[in-house]
This record gives sequence, C-alpha cells and structure tokens, in this order.
Amino acid sequence: MATGLLVVLAALAAFGLHRSRAWRAPRRDNLLLITLDTTRADRIGCYGYARARTPNLDRLAREGVRFQYAYGPAPLTLPSHASILTGLLPPEHGVRNNGTFFLKEQFETVATLLKKRGYRTAAFVSAFVLDSRFGLNRGFDVYDEHVEENLPEGMSLEAQRSGDKTVASLKSWIRTEAAQAGAPFFAWLHLYDAHEPHRPPPPFGDAFPDSPYEFVIAFDDSLVGMAMEALSQAGLRERTLVAVIGDHGESLGEHGEVAHSVFVYEGAIRVPFVLWGPGHVPSGAVVRLPVRATDVAPTLLDLLGAPELRVAHGRSLVPLMEGRDTAPAPAVYAETLLPQLDFGWAPLRSVRDERFKLIDAPRPELYDLRDDPHEGRNLYASEPQKAAALRRELERLTGGAWGVMAKGEIDAETKEKLAALGYLGGAGDADAAPSVDGRKDPKDGIVAFNVIRRATEAIRARSFEEARGLIDEARQADRDNPIISLLDASALLGLGEHRSALQSLQRFLALKPGSAEAHYLAAVCHLRLGNNEAAFRETELTLVLSPHHADAHVLRSRLHIATGSVGAAITELRTALDRKPKSVAVRVILAKALADAGRTGEARTEFEEVLRLQADNAAALAGLGLLLGARSEAEPALRLLTRALEVDPEQERARFALAQIYDNLGRRDEAATEFARVVDSLHRKLEAEPGDADARLNLARVLERQGRKPEAEAEYRRLAAMTSASSQAKAIARNRLAAAGR
Ligand SMILES: [Zn+2]
Repeated sequence: MATGLLVVLAALAAFGLHRSRAWRAPRRDNLLLITLDTTRADRIGCYGYARARTPNLDRLAREGVRFQYAYGPAPLTLPSHASILTGLLPPEHGVRNNGTFFLKEQFETVATLLKKRGYRTAAFVSAFVLDSRFGLNRGFDVYDEHVEENLPEGMSLEAQRSGDKTVASLKSWIRTEAAQAGAPFFAWLHLYDAHEPHRPPPPFGDAFPDSPYEFVIAFDDSLVGMAMEALSQAGLRERTLVAVIGDHGESLGEHGEVAHSVFVYEGAIRVPFVLWGPGHVPSGAVVRLPVRATDVAPTLLDLLGAPELRVAHGRSLVPLMEGRDTAPAPAVYAETLLPQLDFGWAPLRSVRDERFKLIDAPRPELYDLRDDPHEGRNLYASEPQKAAALRRELERLTGGAWGVMAKGEIDAETKEKLAALGYLGGAGDADAAPSVDGRKDPKDGIVAFNVIRRATEAIRARSFEEARGLIDEARQADRDNPIISLLDASALLGLGEHRSALQSLQRFLALKPGSAEAHYLAAVCHLRLGNNEAAFRETELTLVLSPHHADAHVLRSRLHIATGSVGAAITELRTALDRKPKSVAVRVILAKALADAGRTGEARTEFEEVLRLQADNAAALAGLGLLLGARSEAEPALRLLTRALEVDPEQERARFALAQIYDNLGRRDEAATEFARVVDSLHRKLEAEPGDADARLNLARVLERQGRKPEAEAEYRRLAAMTSASSQAKAIARNRLAAAGR
C-alpha cells in the first residue's frame, strides 16, 4: 500500500499539483464512459505489455489516472456492467448471469442520477447481452442497441455489432444532439470486439496474424481514439470527463480456461481502468491499491459534483487519487454463478486483500498474489489462518448469504395465463439456491466447458455436423449438464432435424422449465414440421414468460401467413416492431408481408424507411425494386434491383424480376444471362440443401417463365411431394400442375 501512495504523490508532485486541488473542482461537465468488453489489463501498453498497439489508451493513462489493479465483480458482461453503473455488487443488485437476469427498477444508476441532474443521456452498446430488456437502459434518453445479425436459431445471446459501427452511432449523436444542447451529456460506449469470435477488419488483423486477441484489442484502442476525436471535433474535449474500464478479462488458456465465465482467476477479472479529464483528475498518476468496478459510479458522480448514490458498495476514489486516503484498501469480491446456473456445477466466489486471494470452491484455493501473480501455488492447506481470515471477510462482504437473484419472476396473473395454456411444468424458476456443497468443482468441468464453447462457435458458424460431434463429446464428459441439450436443439434445428430437436428441448425444459428461449425454439420446430397449433401454443408460452420477445411475434406472423391470415400476420409484425422499433430485419419482413398482401402503398413506405435507416439494405432494395417492377416502373426498378444484386448477388427473386424486366423491355441477351444465373444459383442451393422448398418453388417458376415446361413440371411434382414444403407451397405446385393438365 505504501508504495502505491508514494507513486501517486510522486506523480502529483511532478506536475506541481501536490497539495493543490486546482485540478479538481467538481464541475457539471460531460461524461463519456467507455466499457471494453473482455479486456485484460495486462494486454495494454500502459499496463506494461510491450507488444501492445494501444496508443490511445496509453495516452489517456499518461494524461490521466491509471488504476494498476482494477477488478470486475464477475467474468460476465451483464452482471459486471450492472455493477459499473450502480456501484453495487452482484449479490446486491441481483444480476447474476447473462440472458435471464435483469436490473430491477429500484436501483439508481449513473444514468438515472445524471438524467435527474438535467444531463442528456445516451448509450451505444455492441452486444445483445446488454439489450434493454435486461434493464440497464433506465435513465438513458437514447439506448442504441442495434445488434442485428443473421444467427442460427438459439444463438440470439451471441448477437453483436462491430465497434466501428457503434462508434459511428456515438459520433453522429455527439455531433447532432450533444454538441447543440445547452445541457451537459452522459454517453456510454460499449465495445465488444475483444469478445469471441475475434474478427476485426484489416489493418488490425494483418498486424497480429498469430494473436487474434491482440489485434482486437488494437482495434478497440483505435475506436477509443475515434471517440476522443469526435469530442475534439465537437469542441467538447476540454469539458468532458472520460472513464475507460473493462468489464472482465479473458483467460487465454490460463488454468485451462480458453475464454471467460467459469473461473475467477486474475486473467478473467482484472481489467484496465483509466480516468481522464483536464481539470477533473490529476495527470499521469498511478494508483496501485486494488480498486473495484463498484467504485466507478461513486467516483464519477463525485468528480461531476452530482449527488451520491443512496446505497453503494463502492466508494469514491477521489481521495485515493489525491493521496489523501490512507486507510487500508477494502477487500475485492468477485463471483461467477454461471457454473451452477447453466451447468449445475458449484458457483465460485473470490475475495482478495492487498496480497492474498481466496477462491471459495469445493476444493478451495488461496494464492499469494505478490509472489505468485499467476496463481500457480495453492496455499490453502499451508496457510489456514490467512484462508480463515479471508473467508471471514467473504462472509462479511456478503452478509453470510448468497444475495439477491433478480430473475424474471412469475406473478399470479402469469401463472393463471400459463395454467390456461395447459402448462403443467413448474411455472417458477427451478434453479436451486446457490451452494457449493455436493456440486462439481468447476476445475473438474473446464474440459467439458471448452468443448461446449467450441460447439457454440461451430453452431454460430453454421457447422452443425461438427457441433453435434462436439456436443456428444461434451455429454460424455458431463452427462447431466442442461445447457448441452439446449445446444443440441440448436444444432439439430440447423440440420433440419426438427423432431430430434424437440426431444432435446424437452430434456432441457425438464431441468429449466421457465426458459422462454426453449419454448421459442420448440415453436420454430413445430412451425417447420407444419404443426401449426403446437407452434402457436409454444409462442404463447414464450410471450407469457418473456412479454418483450419480439421474435415470438415474428414467428407468429409466419404461422398466420402459413394459414392464409395475412392481416393477422401484419398485426403481429406491427407488434414486433413496437417491441423493437429499430429493427431493420423486422421492418423488412413487415414490408414484404404488406407487398404480398397487395398493400403496396404501405409496403413502399416501410421499404423506404428501411432504406433511410440503411441505404444498402439488399432486401429492401430488392423489395422496393420488385414493387416498382410490378407497377411497370421499369427504370427505377432496374436501378434498385441492380443495386440490390451488387450488395447481395444471392437474391434469386430479385434476379428473376430483373430478368423479366429485361425480357419485357426486349433486351433479350441481358434477360437470358440473368435467367441462366438464377437457374444456376438455385441449382447450387438445392444441391447443398435438397429440402429447401422455397428454392425449389422459385426454380419451377423460373423454368416455367423461360418456357422450359417439362423441367418446370418436374420441379413442381417434387415440391408437391416434399415433407418440408409448406401447405401453401404445395398448393401452388398442385395448382400449376393442374393448370398444365398433369
Ligand atoms: Zn463482457
């Protein structure tokens, strides 16, 4: 501790600021909070990593304060961000895992407090894990969470957007909103690029060909630079306090963990933390005492002269930065409940003081971080007194209990709705209370976990066969792990094996009956099997368990379309859009449904709105092109369709329309070329996936239009016999065959 203070004081003295508080007058200035997902402190240049290319973070640290030992409270994105914004630990705010927990309304956050102070507030997040449904959006005027990705079913938690797009959104907000307002602003930027899969654009990929993790860190550093540049351009740099912190780290193979979430070793929880702000914080100071993510909110509010949080676990670090705080550093807590909640293993909790760290596990661990920073020598047996002291500290920090669990609670009304749907499963949460006793030590499960992780990646990459091999491997290592059944269902869905997928979902739901996602996936299976009633019932259950589940409304619209109720389908899509107003994907589906229903005016409005949001949206360009083509507005239709096919050449329907327009205009050669391309591309598709009913229907139509009647009829006959074809597609096939007299 003494060394830490000496360094701080030396830094202050060097800048002639010792004793003087001139650099720190609480001012109602702007605040930019940047959270770096999955970022280890020891991969950043200013934290001593020689290979790093992090000039922007290094500069902020050089001109501001660097906290050498900062810790996230959990190796999990949502719990850790909830702590950064509330100043509370996960056992206090109750957000203990991603995906199923949410921050309850009673908690104040940096956003709610600054909003009350008249700030303009905006968040720009890069991953679905931080979707507004999980409650961090409170207090933000703008919550920009546009993370659409075309992912396989069951992978929605994996959705993310590249940080350059998130920063572009932030920049545009700073330029158009923040710079013009009379009031100060609070903007939160969340960058997710360091999370798997690591795939930054060049030149970053080229700079570190052998270390994808380092290049994503370099990429995020460049985005921090762009955010700072945006402040300069708006003339706000001198009036903005900037905080940059990681939510958790990445194990990179240490202790057998490839990524993060299962362990609470240093690699997974120690993060970079830098404060920068001319006139707010000293320049070039380094704090070497351990600090916590829960200290962030109290510190920022203190620096801005805002009212304190009513309750906080953390404390303002301002006295520490000033060298006025001589008290011993408070203990640092971390936890991960994911091993129990997702896998049925023991949860982990750790507590560290200035030197030692205890990990509470079925086989507990104690490390001397000063002499053994990589946690290689477990001293638990040889240092019983130290271990006992830290265990007492853990009990004190947590009040001897496991704390609050803020999951979706099922109220009486919901229970009634579930009963009315004939739902017999336990309506509540079947999770047992957290406990270490009698559960598998995560150290014994990490091999299985790494296989599960690879299976998830394989599903994400649509390598479903590979995923199933890995799932079998994981099941052999850890037979009763519920998440394996859910992953298996995703892989089976991807392979089109819907009946087997349903069996996997039943196995999962027997262990986790309150899972909206599992019911949603069951609905997808039933829809594809043509069990419309069962599919409808599963969407009902999904929406009772998760009322904001926009995808369930989209799926219901498809059920309505399959049964010919286009009006009802459009109503569902409008509801989905109410839930997710920024969703381009949902708006495209709505526009297409309107076009198919002949409501061309409304369809046109929606397509145009999509193109306003995303000028190069291939589906909207094609959709609007088709619409205009059908109205014989040949020239604009040609322009839109050509552009649509430049963006995405694999749109057979658009290419077919383009060919037809050429044909109608008498441009026969161009028409022939495009017809041939459509047929080629559909043949390729059907070779890869012979059960693709849409492709077969399109192929039959194109052949028919080309006058290749026998070939077209052969395709219609195949379509009529396909089990995977919708009743609507089969009816079309039968009608065409009847019209041809076959
Ligand atoms: Zn994270």
